Amino acid sequence: MTDKVPVITIDGPVGAGKGAIAQRLAERLGFHLLDSGALYRVLAVAAAKEDIRDDDADALGSLAGKLVVRFEPSGDPDEPLDVILDEQEVTQAIRTNEAGEMASRISPLTEVRMGLRDLQRSFRRSPGLVADGRDMGTVVFADAVLKIYLTASAEVRAERRYKQLKHKDIGVSLHALLESIRERDERDMQRAVAPLRPADDAFTLDSTDLDIDAVLAQVMNLVRQRGIID
Ligand code: C5P
Repeated sequence: MTDKVPVITIDGPVGAGKGAIAQRLAERLGFHLLDSGALYRVLAVAAAKEDIRDDDADALGSLAGKLVVRFEPSGDPDEPLDVILDEQEVTQAIRTNEAGEMASRISPLTEVRMGLRDLQRSFRRSPGLVADGRDMGTVVFADAVLKIYLTASAEVRAERRYKQLKHKDIGVSLHALLESIRERDERDMQRAVAPLRPADDAFTLDSTDLDIDAVLAQVMNLVRQRGIID
């Protein structure tokens, strides 16, 4: 292990369960948690507030370098962390479809990725960090002590999302969700800058037939094997 603060990265496509696993893992280990997707969403919301267009790469890049963001526990392990931008809570605002779409449109811009890089790295604090996203193991924390690539079939990911939304009384069709998941996979994997792919030294876990507890058990085995904990 390096003498740097240890980082565990969890990358993968939308709906694979990265957020749930990252949150539980961080809690088990007493590590800090970075939901990097939330930062792309926060940037989208902050840009909309300042009337910055989604193709204005310079303005977006400079805004990314100035964001003051913090995460706080939501009190419910099944819900993502609360997100605070400039002392204002934006937890709900960043989870809208609009914010997600804009995040996905601005994320291929080099200026945006460079602008958010230092902010993401600033979350690396003792005793350790669990970071989830698309390029945590390949780019942002390439020296991570353990890299997981978590995936599942598009059908199962769509079904999981469908159940979550139904639980919240949000009406969508399973077919539309599957289409949108396939589109986002395509966009994330085909982009020129930091495309979604497993790092060469990542462990790929397929959660198609596994529930959260089973995935977490496998990750904890890897954590022990790597000597991150006894
Ligand atoms: O994970 P989440 O859906 O919140 O991410 C929102 C968008 O941000 C994704 O569609 C993806 O394009 C982008 N993203 C990224 N790199 C990351 C995390 C998210 O490009 N590390």
